[in-house]
Amino acid sequence: MENLRSYLGGRWIDGSGDRVDLFNPATEEVVAGLLPDGLDYAAALAYGRAKGGPALRAMTFAQRGAMLKSLAGALHAKRDELLDIGMLNGGNTRSDAKFDVDGAIGTLTWYAELGASLGDGRWILDGQPVSLGRSSKVTAQHVLTPRLGVAVHVNAFNFPAWGLAEKAAVALLAGVPVLARPAPATAWLAARVVELFLASGALPDGALSLSVGAPGDLLDHLGPQDVFAFTGSGKTGAMLRGRPNLLASGTHVNVEADSLNGAVLGPDVERGGDTWTLMVSDLVRDITQKAGQKCTAIRRVLVPRDRLDELQEDVIERLLVVRTGDPRVEGVTMGPVATAAQLEHVREGLGRLIASGAKAVAGGPARIDGEGVAASKGYFVAPTLLRVDDAASGDAVHSLEVFGPSATLIPYEGASEAVALLARGGGGLVTSVYSEDRAFAAEVVMGTAPSHGRVTAVNAKVAGAWIGPGAVLPQLIHGGPGHAGGGEELGGARGMGLYLQRTAIQGYGPLVEYITSSGVRAG
Ligand code: NAP
Repeated sequence: MENLRSYLGGRWIDGSGDRVDLFNPATEEVVAGLLPDGLDYAAALAYGRAKGGPALRAMTFAQRGAMLKSLAGALHAKRDELLDIGMLNGGNTRSDAKFDVDGAIGTLTWYAELGASLGDGRWILDGQPVSLGRSSKVTAQHVLTPRLGVAVHVNAFNFPAWGLAEKAAVALLAGVPVLARPAPATAWLAARVVELFLASGALPDGALSLSVGAPGDLLDHLGPQDVFAFTGSGKTGAMLRGRPNLLASGTHVNVEADSLNGAVLGPDVERGGDTWTLMVSDLVRDITQKAGQKCTAIRRVLVPRDRLDELQEDVIERLLVVRTGDPRVEGVTMGPVATAAQLEHVREGLGRLIASGAKAVAGGPARIDGEGVAASKGYFVAPTLLRVDDAASGDAVHSLEVFGPSATLIPYEGASEAVALLARGGGGLVTSVYSEDRAFAAEVVMGTAPSHGRVTAVNAKVAGAWIGPGAVLPQLIHGGPGHAGGGEELGGARGMGLYLQRTAIQGYGPLVEYITSSGVRAG
Protein backbone atom coordinates (compact mmCIF):
# COMPACT_ATOMS: atom_id res chain seq x y z
CA MET A 1 0.00 0.00 0.00
CA GLU A 2 1.42 3.33 -1.10
CA ASN A 3 1.37 6.20 1.41
CA LEU A 4 1.57 9.49 -0.44
CA ARG A 5 3.52 12.38 1.01
CA SER A 6 3.78 16.07 0.23
CA TYR A 7 7.07 17.78 -0.52
CA LEU A 8 7.09 21.26 1.00
CA GLY A 9 9.87 23.50 2.28
CA GLY A 10 12.49 21.15 0.84
CA ARG A 11 11.37 17.99 2.67
CA TRP A 12 8.86 15.15 2.48
CA ILE A 13 5.93 15.50 4.88
CA ASP A 14 3.52 12.76 5.94
CA GLY A 15 0.60 15.05 6.81
CA SER A 16 -1.91 14.39 9.55
CA GLY A 17 -5.65 13.91 10.05
CA ASP A 18 -8.01 11.23 8.81
CA ARG A 19 -6.61 9.00 6.10
CA VAL A 20 -7.98 9.53 2.58
CA ASP A 21 -7.99 6.37 0.45
CA LEU A 22 -7.20 6.20 -3.25
CA PHE A 23 -8.92 3.44 -5.22
CA ASN A 24 -8.52 1.24 -8.22
CA PRO A 25 -11.69 2.39 -10.03
CA ALA A 26 -12.04 -0.93 -11.82
CA THR A 27 -12.19 -3.06 -8.66
CA GLU A 28 -12.83 -0.49 -5.89
CA GLU A 29 -9.78 -1.85 -4.03
CA VAL A 30 -7.78 0.67 -2.01
CA VAL A 31 -4.39 1.15 -3.68
CA ALA A 32 -2.91 4.11 -1.81
CA GLY A 33 -3.67 6.61 0.91
CA LEU A 34 -2.71 10.03 2.22
CA LEU A 35 -3.11 12.18 5.31
CA PRO A 36 -4.60 15.48 4.14
CA ASP A 37 -3.90 17.94 6.96
CA GLY A 38 -1.02 19.57 8.79
CA LEU A 39 0.56 21.33 5.80
CA ASP A 40 2.07 24.76 6.38
CA TYR A 41 1.44 26.49 3.07
CA ALA A 42 2.63 29.93 4.19
CA ALA A 43 6.06 28.50 5.01
CA ALA A 44 6.15 26.39 1.83
CA LEU A 45 5.41 29.38 -0.38
CA ALA A 46 7.95 31.52 1.48
CA TYR A 47 10.54 28.78 0.91
CA GLY A 48 9.80 28.66 -2.81
CA ARG A 49 10.03 32.45 -3.13
CA ALA A 50 13.26 32.66 -1.11
CA LYS A 51 15.12 29.64 -2.51
CA GLY A 52 13.60 28.35 -5.75
CA GLY A 53 12.89 31.70 -7.42
CA PRO A 54 16.39 33.22 -7.12
CA ALA A 55 18.02 29.93 -8.15
CA LEU A 56 15.86 29.59 -11.26
CA ARG A 57 16.26 33.25 -12.22
CA ALA A 58 20.03 32.88 -12.00
CA MET A 59 19.92 30.11 -14.61
CA THR A 60 19.90 30.88 -18.34
CA PHE A 61 17.15 29.60 -20.61
CA ALA A 62 19.60 26.99 -21.91
CA GLN A 63 20.29 25.79 -18.35
CA ARG A 64 16.59 25.69 -17.52
CA GLY A 65 16.04 23.79 -20.78
CA ALA A 66 18.72 21.26 -19.79
CA MET A 67 16.94 20.89 -16.44
CA LEU A 68 13.64 20.09 -18.23
CA LYS A 69 15.45 17.59 -20.44
CA SER A 70 16.66 15.78 -17.30
CA LEU A 71 13.11 15.77 -15.92
CA ALA A 72 11.82 14.24 -19.16
CA GLY A 73 14.62 11.65 -18.99
CA ALA A 74 13.70 10.78 -15.40
CA LEU A 75 10.11 9.99 -16.46
CA HIS A 76 11.21 8.11 -19.54
CA ALA A 77 13.47 5.85 -17.46
CA LYS A 78 10.48 4.80 -15.31
CA ARG A 79 7.83 4.91 -18.00
CA ASP A 80 6.52 1.37 -17.44
CA GLU A 81 6.13 1.93 -13.72
CA LEU A 82 4.25 5.19 -14.38
CA LEU A 83 1.95 3.48 -16.89
CA ASP A 84 1.16 0.81 -14.31
CA ILE A 85 0.19 3.44 -11.75
CA GLY A 86 -2.06 5.17 -14.31
CA MET A 87 -3.78 1.85 -14.97
CA LEU A 88 -4.14 0.97 -11.32
CA ASN A 89 -5.23 4.29 -9.84
CA GLY A 90 -6.70 6.06 -12.89
CA GLY A 91 -8.65 3.24 -14.55
CA ASN A 92 -6.60 3.93 -17.68
CA THR A 93 -6.05 1.38 -20.40
CA ARG A 94 -2.34 1.12 -21.19
CA SER A 95 -2.91 3.30 -24.22
CA ASP A 96 -4.76 5.93 -22.09
CA ALA A 97 -1.89 5.90 -19.59
CA LYS A 98 0.60 6.42 -22.43
CA PHE A 99 -1.40 9.42 -23.60
CA ASP A 100 -0.91 10.97 -20.15
CA VAL A 101 2.69 9.93 -19.42
CA ASP A 102 4.04 10.38 -22.95
CA GLY A 103 2.24 13.72 -23.09
CA ALA A 104 4.20 14.75 -20.00
CA ILE A 105 7.51 13.57 -21.45
CA GLY A 106 6.79 15.16 -24.84
CA THR A 107 5.85 18.53 -23.39
CA LEU A 108 8.92 18.63 -21.12
CA THR A 109 11.11 17.72 -24.08
CA TRP A 110 9.56 20.35 -26.31
CA TYR A 111 10.10 23.10 -23.70
CA ALA A 112 13.62 21.78 -23.08
CA GLU A 113 14.35 22.40 -26.75
CA LEU A 114 12.79 25.84 -26.60
CA GLY A 115 15.09 26.63 -23.66
CA ALA A 116 18.12 25.46 -25.62
CA SER A 117 17.11 27.64 -28.56
CA LEU A 118 16.77 30.72 -26.31
CA GLY A 119 20.36 30.24 -25.18
CA ASP A 120 22.09 32.41 -22.63
CA GLY A 121 19.35 34.95 -21.90
CA ARG A 122 17.40 34.95 -18.63
CA TRP A 123 14.46 37.04 -19.75
CA ILE A 124 12.73 38.02 -22.99
CA LEU A 125 12.64 41.04 -25.27
CA ASP A 126 9.05 41.48 -26.40
CA GLY A 127 8.86 42.96 -29.89
CA GLN A 128 11.15 45.56 -31.43
CA PRO A 129 12.28 48.89 -29.91
CA VAL A 130 9.80 51.69 -30.53
CA SER A 131 10.82 55.28 -31.33
CA LEU A 132 8.88 57.80 -29.29
CA GLY A 133 8.70 61.09 -31.13
CA ARG A 134 10.32 62.19 -34.39
CA SER A 135 13.94 61.40 -33.49
CA SER A 136 15.26 58.15 -32.05
CA LYS A 137 16.50 60.00 -28.97
CA VAL A 138 13.72 58.59 -26.82
CA THR A 139 12.81 54.94 -27.36
CA ALA A 140 11.07 52.13 -25.55
CA GLN A 141 11.43 48.35 -25.42
CA HIS A 142 8.96 45.92 -23.88
CA VAL A 143 10.58 43.22 -21.76
CA LEU A 144 9.24 40.07 -20.05
CA THR A 145 10.88 39.16 -16.73
CA PRO A 146 10.10 36.27 -14.34
CA ARG A 147 7.64 37.06 -11.56
CA LEU A 148 9.23 36.88 -8.13
CA GLY A 149 6.67 34.58 -6.54
CA VAL A 150 5.56 30.96 -6.75
CA ALA A 151 3.27 29.41 -9.36
CA VAL A 152 0.57 27.37 -7.62
CA HIS A 153 -0.84 24.74 -9.97
CA VAL A 154 -4.13 23.13 -8.99
CA ASN A 155 -4.91 20.27 -11.35
CA ALA A 156 -7.83 18.05 -12.32
CA PHE A 157 -7.89 14.29 -11.73
CA ASN A 158 -7.85 13.18 -15.34
CA PHE A 159 -4.24 13.88 -16.39
CA PRO A 160 -2.10 13.46 -13.25
CA ALA A 161 1.20 13.24 -15.18
CA TRP A 162 0.67 15.51 -18.18
CA GLY A 163 -1.36 18.10 -16.23
CA LEU A 164 1.42 18.53 -13.69
CA ALA A 165 4.29 18.39 -16.18
CA GLU A 166 2.89 20.74 -18.81
CA LYS A 167 2.30 23.50 -16.30
CA ALA A 168 5.60 22.90 -14.49
CA ALA A 169 7.62 22.85 -17.74
CA VAL A 170 6.43 26.31 -18.75
CA ALA A 171 6.76 27.91 -15.31
CA LEU A 172 10.23 26.46 -14.67
CA LEU A 173 11.46 27.52 -18.11
CA ALA A 174 10.16 31.01 -17.38
CA GLY A 175 12.17 30.98 -14.13
CA VAL A 176 9.31 30.63 -11.62
CA PRO A 177 9.16 27.95 -8.89
CA VAL A 178 6.12 25.68 -8.70
CA LEU A 179 3.88 24.32 -5.98
CA ALA A 180 1.78 21.60 -7.61
CA ARG A 181 -1.45 20.38 -6.09
CA PRO A 182 -2.90 17.40 -8.00
CA ALA A 183 -6.44 16.14 -7.42
CA PRO A 184 -6.20 13.57 -4.60
CA ALA A 185 -8.21 10.81 -6.33
CA THR A 186 -5.39 10.11 -8.82
CA ALA A 187 -2.50 11.80 -6.97
CA TRP A 188 -0.37 8.64 -6.78
CA LEU A 189 0.91 9.13 -10.34
CA ALA A 190 1.49 12.87 -9.82
CA ALA A 191 3.37 12.19 -6.57
CA ARG A 192 5.58 9.59 -8.26
CA VAL A 193 6.32 12.05 -11.08
CA VAL A 194 7.46 14.65 -8.55
CA GLU A 195 9.52 12.05 -6.70
CA LEU A 196 11.32 11.17 -9.93
CA PHE A 197 11.84 14.85 -10.79
CA LEU A 198 13.43 15.49 -7.38
CA ALA A 199 15.54 12.32 -7.49
CA SER A 200 16.96 13.41 -10.87
CA GLY A 201 18.93 16.10 -9.01
CA ALA A 202 18.19 18.55 -11.83
CA LEU A 203 16.02 20.93 -9.82
CA PRO A 204 17.41 23.64 -7.58
CA ASP A 205 16.23 23.61 -3.97
CA GLY A 206 12.77 25.15 -3.66
CA ALA A 207 12.00 25.00 -7.40
CA LEU A 208 9.28 22.37 -7.05
CA SER A 209 6.91 21.59 -4.20
CA LEU A 210 4.02 19.18 -4.03
CA SER A 211 0.90 19.06 -1.92
CA VAL A 212 -1.16 15.89 -1.91
CA GLY A 213 -3.13 17.25 1.03
CA ALA A 214 -6.24 19.35 1.41
CA PRO A 215 -5.91 22.79 -0.23
CA GLY A 216 -6.81 24.40 3.12
CA ASP A 217 -5.57 27.99 3.20
CA LEU A 218 -3.13 27.58 0.28
CA LEU A 219 -4.67 30.29 -1.88
CA ASP A 220 -4.97 32.73 1.01
CA HIS A 221 -1.19 33.16 1.04
CA LEU A 222 -0.81 34.17 -2.60
CA GLY A 223 0.33 37.69 -3.34
CA PRO A 224 0.96 40.05 -6.27
CA GLN A 225 4.06 38.24 -7.59
CA ASP A 226 2.52 34.76 -7.38
CA VAL A 227 0.58 32.94 -10.10
CA PHE A 228 -2.43 30.71 -9.64
CA ALA A 229 -3.10 28.35 -12.53
CA PHE A 230 -6.18 26.19 -12.15
CA THR A 231 -7.48 23.27 -14.20
CA GLY A 232 -10.82 21.73 -13.36
CA SER A 233 -14.54 22.33 -13.62
CA GLY A 234 -15.92 25.75 -14.43
CA LYS A 235 -17.81 25.74 -11.15
CA THR A 236 -14.69 25.29 -8.99
CA GLY A 237 -12.71 27.67 -11.20
CA ALA A 238 -15.32 30.41 -10.82
CA MET A 239 -15.40 29.91 -7.05
CA LEU A 240 -11.61 30.00 -6.68
CA ARG A 241 -10.87 32.91 -9.01
CA GLY A 242 -13.24 35.05 -6.96
CA ARG A 243 -11.33 34.51 -3.70
CA PRO A 244 -11.06 37.96 -2.06
CA ASN A 245 -7.31 37.81 -1.44
CA LEU A 246 -6.60 36.85 -5.07
CA LEU A 247 -8.65 39.82 -6.24
CA ALA A 248 -7.20 42.19 -3.65
CA SER A 249 -3.58 41.29 -4.30
CA GLY A 250 -3.93 41.07 -8.09
CA THR A 251 -2.46 37.55 -8.19
CA HIS A 252 -2.15 36.47 -11.81
CA VAL A 253 -4.87 33.82 -12.32
CA ASN A 254 -5.38 31.41 -15.21
CA VAL A 255 -8.42 29.15 -15.38
CA GLU A 256 -8.67 26.12 -17.67
CA ALA A 257 -12.20 24.81 -17.25
CA ASP A 258 -14.69 22.56 -18.99
CA SER A 259 -15.92 22.77 -22.53
CA LEU A 260 -18.66 21.57 -24.88
CA ASN A 261 -16.24 20.86 -27.72
CA GLY A 262 -17.77 20.59 -31.17
CA ALA A 263 -17.24 18.63 -34.36
CA VAL A 264 -18.98 19.63 -37.59
CA LEU A 265 -19.53 17.23 -40.48
CA GLY A 266 -19.55 19.19 -43.75
CA PRO A 267 -22.54 18.57 -46.05
CA ASP A 268 -20.13 17.54 -48.81
CA VAL A 269 -18.48 14.66 -46.92
CA GLU A 270 -19.17 11.27 -48.47
CA ARG A 271 -20.03 8.33 -46.28
CA GLY A 272 -17.10 5.92 -46.04
CA GLY A 273 -14.60 8.36 -47.58
CA ASP A 274 -11.38 9.40 -45.81
CA THR A 275 -12.83 12.53 -44.21
CA TRP A 276 -15.89 10.63 -42.98
CA THR A 277 -13.65 7.91 -41.55
CA LEU A 278 -11.45 10.49 -39.83
CA MET A 279 -14.48 12.03 -38.18
CA VAL A 280 -15.91 8.71 -37.03
CA SER A 281 -12.48 7.69 -35.64
CA ASP A 282 -11.98 11.00 -33.84
CA LEU A 283 -15.45 10.76 -32.33
CA VAL A 284 -15.11 7.14 -31.20
CA ARG A 285 -11.63 7.86 -29.78
CA ASP A 286 -12.95 10.85 -27.84
CA ILE A 287 -15.88 8.89 -26.41
CA THR A 288 -13.70 5.97 -25.29
CA GLN A 289 -10.18 7.30 -24.60
CA LYS A 290 -9.81 7.78 -20.84
CA ALA A 291 -13.50 6.83 -20.71
CA GLY A 292 -14.28 10.25 -22.17
CA GLN A 293 -12.61 12.11 -19.28
CA LYS A 294 -10.69 14.46 -21.53
CA CYS A 295 -11.32 18.19 -21.44
CA THR A 296 -10.89 18.37 -25.23
CA ALA A 297 -13.20 15.45 -26.05
CA ILE A 298 -15.87 16.05 -28.69
CA ARG A 299 -19.20 16.47 -26.90
CA ARG A 300 -21.43 17.99 -29.62
CA VAL A 301 -21.45 16.53 -33.11
CA LEU A 302 -23.16 18.76 -35.68
CA VAL A 303 -24.41 16.76 -38.61
CA PRO A 304 -26.44 17.82 -41.70
CA ARG A 305 -29.97 16.67 -40.87
CA ASP A 306 -30.17 14.23 -43.78
CA ARG A 307 -26.92 12.50 -42.72
CA LEU A 308 -27.77 11.94 -39.04
CA ASP A 309 -28.93 8.33 -39.47
CA GLU A 310 -25.86 7.33 -41.50
CA LEU A 311 -23.37 8.83 -39.04
CA GLN A 312 -25.24 7.37 -36.09
CA GLU A 313 -25.15 3.92 -37.69
CA ASP A 314 -21.41 4.06 -38.39
CA VAL A 315 -20.47 5.36 -34.94
CA ILE A 316 -22.63 2.76 -33.18
CA GLU A 317 -21.03 0.01 -35.28
CA ARG A 318 -17.65 1.09 -33.87
CA LEU A 319 -18.94 1.51 -30.29
CA LEU A 320 -20.40 -2.00 -30.30
CA VAL A 321 -16.93 -3.53 -30.41
CA VAL A 322 -15.63 -1.47 -27.47
CA ARG A 323 -14.82 -3.76 -24.54
CA THR A 324 -15.33 -2.05 -21.20
CA GLY A 325 -13.65 -3.51 -18.13
CA ASP A 326 -10.53 -3.78 -16.02
CA PRO A 327 -7.76 -2.25 -18.16
CA ARG A 328 -5.42 -5.05 -17.06
CA VAL A 329 -7.58 -7.64 -18.84
CA GLU A 330 -6.35 -8.49 -22.33
CA GLY A 331 -8.58 -6.99 -25.02
CA VAL A 332 -10.30 -4.37 -22.85
CA THR A 333 -10.42 -1.07 -24.77
CA MET A 334 -12.21 1.21 -22.31
CA GLY A 335 -11.74 1.48 -18.56
CA PRO A 336 -14.02 2.78 -15.82
CA VAL A 337 -14.44 6.43 -14.92
CA ALA A 338 -12.00 7.50 -12.23
CA THR A 339 -14.06 7.67 -9.05
CA ALA A 340 -17.41 6.83 -7.51
CA ALA A 341 -18.24 10.56 -7.61
CA GLN A 342 -17.41 10.64 -11.33
CA LEU A 343 -19.73 7.70 -11.92
CA GLU A 344 -22.53 9.61 -10.20
CA HIS A 345 -21.67 12.78 -12.15
CA VAL A 346 -21.83 10.92 -15.48
CA ARG A 347 -25.04 9.07 -14.67
CA GLU A 348 -26.76 12.19 -13.40
CA GLY A 349 -25.46 14.30 -16.30
CA LEU A 350 -26.65 11.83 -18.94
CA GLY A 351 -30.02 11.78 -17.17
CA ARG A 352 -30.20 15.57 -17.43
CA LEU A 353 -29.30 15.56 -21.13
CA ILE A 354 -32.01 12.98 -21.76
CA ALA A 355 -34.52 14.95 -19.70
CA SER A 356 -33.79 18.03 -21.80
CA GLY A 357 -34.67 16.28 -25.08
CA ALA A 358 -31.72 14.06 -26.05
CA LYS A 359 -32.27 10.37 -26.76
CA ALA A 360 -29.70 7.64 -25.98
CA VAL A 361 -29.11 5.70 -29.22
CA ALA A 362 -26.22 3.69 -27.72
CA GLY A 363 -25.33 3.10 -24.06
CA GLY A 364 -27.06 5.29 -21.50
CA PRO A 365 -26.89 6.39 -17.87
CA ALA A 366 -27.06 2.95 -16.26
CA ARG A 367 -24.02 1.59 -14.44
CA ILE A 368 -22.72 -1.54 -16.15
CA ASP A 369 -20.48 -4.40 -15.06
CA GLY A 370 -16.93 -4.41 -16.40
CA GLU A 371 -15.14 -7.30 -18.07
CA GLY A 372 -12.82 -9.15 -15.68
CA VAL A 373 -14.38 -7.56 -12.58
CA ALA A 374 -16.76 -8.99 -9.97
CA ALA A 375 -20.41 -8.10 -10.62
CA SER A 376 -21.46 -4.69 -9.25
CA LYS A 377 -17.85 -3.63 -8.66
CA GLY A 378 -16.11 -0.76 -10.44
CA TYR A 379 -17.21 2.58 -11.84
CA PHE A 380 -18.30 1.51 -15.32
CA VAL A 381 -20.65 3.13 -17.80
CA ALA A 382 -21.15 2.14 -21.42
CA PRO A 383 -19.85 4.30 -24.28
CA THR A 384 -22.88 6.45 -24.97
CA LEU A 385 -24.17 8.19 -28.07
CA LEU A 386 -27.04 10.61 -27.67
CA ARG A 387 -29.08 12.29 -30.37
CA VAL A 388 -31.13 15.46 -30.47
CA ASP A 389 -33.54 15.76 -33.39
CA ASP A 390 -34.64 19.32 -32.85
CA ALA A 391 -31.59 21.58 -32.77
CA ALA A 392 -33.64 24.33 -31.12
CA SER A 393 -34.34 22.15 -28.06
CA GLY A 394 -31.92 20.12 -25.99
CA ASP A 395 -30.51 23.21 -24.27
CA ALA A 396 -28.52 21.12 -21.81
CA VAL A 397 -26.36 19.57 -24.55
CA HIS A 398 -24.97 23.07 -25.18
CA SER A 399 -24.33 23.94 -21.55
CA LEU A 400 -23.74 20.78 -19.51
CA GLU A 401 -20.44 18.94 -19.87
CA VAL A 402 -20.86 15.26 -19.02
CA PHE A 403 -17.26 14.34 -18.24
CA GLY A 404 -17.46 10.73 -19.33
CA PRO A 405 -17.80 8.47 -22.38
CA SER A 406 -20.52 10.32 -24.24
CA ALA A 407 -21.26 12.67 -27.14
CA THR A 408 -24.45 13.96 -28.75
CA LEU A 409 -25.44 14.11 -32.43
CA ILE A 410 -27.21 17.38 -33.30
CA PRO A 411 -28.72 18.28 -36.70
CA TYR A 412 -27.89 21.56 -38.48
CA GLU A 413 -28.54 23.16 -41.83
CA GLY A 414 -25.92 25.45 -43.39
CA ALA A 415 -22.68 26.98 -42.15
CA SER A 416 -24.32 29.85 -40.31
CA GLU A 417 -26.52 27.55 -38.23
CA ALA A 418 -23.44 25.43 -37.41
CA VAL A 419 -21.62 28.55 -36.18
CA ALA A 420 -24.65 29.66 -34.14
CA LEU A 421 -25.01 26.21 -32.51
CA LEU A 422 -21.31 26.07 -31.65
CA ALA A 423 -21.60 29.52 -30.03
CA ARG A 424 -24.30 28.13 -27.70
CA GLY A 425 -21.49 26.33 -25.87
CA GLY A 426 -20.54 29.73 -24.45
CA GLY A 427 -16.85 29.39 -25.38
CA GLY A 428 -14.86 26.20 -25.82
CA LEU A 429 -11.42 24.62 -25.97
CA VAL A 430 -11.58 23.10 -29.44
CA THR A 431 -13.91 22.56 -32.37
CA SER A 432 -13.25 20.61 -35.55
CA VAL A 433 -14.64 21.02 -39.03
CA TYR A 434 -14.57 18.01 -41.36
CA SER A 435 -15.05 19.03 -44.98
CA GLU A 436 -13.51 18.97 -48.43
CA ASP A 437 -15.38 22.19 -49.28
CA ARG A 438 -12.88 24.98 -48.63
CA ALA A 439 -15.48 27.74 -48.61
CA PHE A 440 -17.62 25.87 -46.06
CA ALA A 441 -14.57 25.09 -43.89
CA ALA A 442 -13.41 28.73 -44.00
CA GLU A 443 -16.87 30.05 -43.06
CA VAL A 444 -17.28 27.72 -40.08
CA VAL A 445 -13.65 27.90 -38.87
CA MET A 446 -13.49 31.69 -38.93
CA GLY A 447 -17.08 32.04 -37.73
CA THR A 448 -16.38 29.93 -34.65
CA ALA A 449 -12.80 31.14 -33.98
CA PRO A 450 -13.92 33.91 -31.57
CA SER A 451 -15.63 31.26 -29.42
CA HIS A 452 -12.70 28.84 -29.26
CA GLY A 453 -9.06 28.53 -28.30
CA ARG A 454 -8.36 26.09 -31.11
CA VAL A 455 -10.17 25.11 -34.30
CA THR A 456 -9.08 22.22 -36.48
CA ALA A 457 -9.83 22.00 -40.20
CA VAL A 458 -9.82 18.36 -41.27
CA ASN A 459 -9.95 16.96 -44.80
CA ALA A 460 -8.82 13.80 -46.54
CA LYS A 461 -5.37 15.25 -47.22
CA VAL A 462 -4.39 14.89 -43.52
CA ALA A 463 -5.25 11.17 -43.38
CA GLY A 464 -2.23 9.30 -42.04
CA ALA A 465 -0.83 12.41 -40.34
CA TRP A 466 -3.83 13.32 -38.21
CA ILE A 467 -3.75 12.79 -34.44
CA GLY A 468 -7.24 14.11 -33.74
CA PRO A 469 -8.43 17.27 -32.02
CA GLY A 470 -8.09 15.85 -28.49
CA ALA A 471 -4.30 15.98 -28.21
CA VAL A 472 -3.03 19.17 -26.58
CA LEU A 473 0.28 20.15 -28.17
CA PRO A 474 2.98 22.34 -26.62
CA GLN A 475 3.30 24.39 -29.82
CA LEU A 476 -0.36 25.46 -29.77
CA ILE A 477 -2.31 27.36 -27.19
CA HIS A 478 -4.62 25.40 -24.91
CA GLY A 479 -7.58 27.14 -23.33
CA GLY A 480 -10.69 28.90 -24.48
CA PRO A 481 -12.97 31.85 -23.77
CA GLY A 482 -16.07 32.01 -21.57
CA HIS A 483 -17.31 28.61 -20.40
CA ALA A 484 -13.82 27.14 -20.97
CA GLY A 485 -12.43 29.47 -18.30
CA GLY A 486 -10.96 32.28 -20.39
CA GLY A 487 -7.43 30.96 -19.83
CA GLU A 488 -4.52 30.23 -22.11
CA GLU A 489 -1.61 27.83 -21.59
CA LEU A 490 1.22 26.41 -23.72
CA GLY A 491 1.42 27.84 -27.25
CA GLY A 492 5.22 27.66 -27.38
CA ALA A 493 7.01 30.65 -25.87
CA ARG A 494 3.63 32.41 -25.44
CA GLY A 495 2.89 30.06 -22.53
CA MET A 496 5.63 31.66 -20.47
CA GLY A 497 3.65 34.92 -20.56
CA LEU A 498 1.60 33.74 -17.58
CA TYR A 499 4.74 33.66 -15.45
CA LEU A 500 6.46 36.79 -16.80
CA GLN A 501 5.75 40.45 -16.17
CA ARG A 502 5.62 42.63 -19.30
CA THR A 503 7.27 45.99 -18.68
CA ALA A 504 7.87 48.91 -21.06
CA ILE A 505 11.38 50.32 -20.54
CA GLN A 506 11.36 53.90 -21.80
CA GLY A 507 14.14 56.49 -21.97
CA TYR A 508 17.20 57.72 -23.83
CA GLY A 509 17.60 55.33 -26.81
CA PRO A 510 21.21 54.15 -26.27
CA LEU A 511 20.56 53.73 -22.53
CA VAL A 512 17.44 51.62 -23.17
CA GLU A 513 19.47 49.55 -25.63
CA TYR A 514 22.24 49.08 -23.05
CA ILE A 515 19.83 48.13 -20.24
CA THR A 516 17.95 45.59 -22.36
CA SER A 517 20.94 44.17 -24.24
CA SER A 518 21.03 40.88 -22.29
CA GLY A 519 17.47 39.86 -23.17
CA VAL A 520 16.60 37.34 -25.88
CA ARG A 521 13.86 37.32 -28.48
CA ALA A 522 11.54 34.32 -28.47
CA GLY A 523 10.65 33.53 -32.07
P1 NAP B 1 -12.82 19.97 -9.94
O1 NAP B 1 -13.73 19.22 -9.07
O2 NAP B 1 -13.22 21.34 -10.36
O3 NAP B 1 -11.41 20.01 -9.19
C1 NAP B 1 -10.27 20.53 -9.81
C2 NAP B 1 -9.18 20.70 -8.78
O4 NAP B 1 -9.54 21.77 -7.90
C3 NAP B 1 -8.99 19.46 -7.89
O5 NAP B 1 -7.62 19.31 -7.65
C4 NAP B 1 -9.73 19.87 -6.64
O6 NAP B 1 -9.29 19.16 -5.51
C5 NAP B 1 -9.34 21.33 -6.56
N1 NAP B 1 -10.12 22.12 -5.61
C6 NAP B 1 -11.42 22.01 -5.31
N2 NAP B 1 -11.74 22.93 -4.38
C7 NAP B 1 -10.61 23.62 -4.08
C8 NAP B 1 -10.29 24.70 -3.19
N3 NAP B 1 -11.21 25.22 -2.40
N4 NAP B 1 -9.02 25.16 -3.15
C9 NAP B 1 -8.08 24.63 -3.97
N5 NAP B 1 -8.32 23.59 -4.81
C10 NAP B 1 -9.57 23.10 -4.88
O7 NAP B 1 -12.51 19.17 -11.30
P2 NAP B 1 -12.14 17.65 -11.46
O8 NAP B 1 -13.37 16.84 -11.18
O9 NAP B 1 -10.87 17.33 -10.75
O10 NAP B 1 -11.80 17.59 -13.01
C11 NAP B 1 -12.78 17.45 -14.01
C12 NAP B 1 -13.07 18.76 -14.67
O11 NAP B 1 -11.85 19.37 -15.10
C13 NAP B 1 -13.90 18.60 -15.93
O12 NAP B 1 -14.93 19.53 -15.90
C14 NAP B 1 -12.92 18.89 -17.07
O13 NAP B 1 -13.51 19.43 -18.22
C15 NAP B 1 -11.99 19.84 -16.44
N6 NAP B 1 -10.69 19.82 -17.10
C16 NAP B 1 -10.30 20.89 -17.84
C17 NAP B 1 -9.08 20.88 -18.49
C18 NAP B 1 -8.61 22.06 -19.30
O14 NAP B 1 -7.43 22.08 -19.62
N7 NAP B 1 -9.46 22.99 -19.66
C19 NAP B 1 -8.23 19.77 -18.36
C20 NAP B 1 -8.64 18.70 -17.59
C21 NAP B 1 -9.88 18.73 -16.95
P3 NAP B 1 -10.29 18.13 -4.78
O15 NAP B 1 -10.41 16.97 -5.71
O16 NAP B 1 -9.60 17.83 -3.49
O17 NAP B 1 -11.60 18.84 -4.59
